[in-house]
Amino acid sequence: MFLFLFGYGTRFKEGGPGENRTCPRCAKTSTWLRLRRFTEVTFFFVPVLRFNRTELEACPVCGEAHELPRPEKPSPWGLRQVGGMSGRSA
Ligand SMILES: [Zn+2]
Repeated sequence: MFLFLFGYGTRFKEGGPGENRTCPRCAKTSTWLRLRRFTEVTFFFVPVLRFNRTELEACPVCGEAHELPRPEKPSPWGLRQVGGMSGRSA
């Protein structure tokens, strides 16, 4: 029973428009989507831990995604609040 209270998984959060790129897969040039990917642990559906944060940009046409080199220092726990549970704080 104990384990049912915990959730664990990889989530994506939209980070707005990214760079204008030509996709190596579909060869279309468009504004890629900036995404933030992280591993999240939830307790009673409330996120308590986020780690393995990675910035990505994805082709909106075919979904090809590339990791970006991270500009910030990696934080071991990633507890900084980045938005509400809706994921659209804008
Ligand atoms: Zn593409």
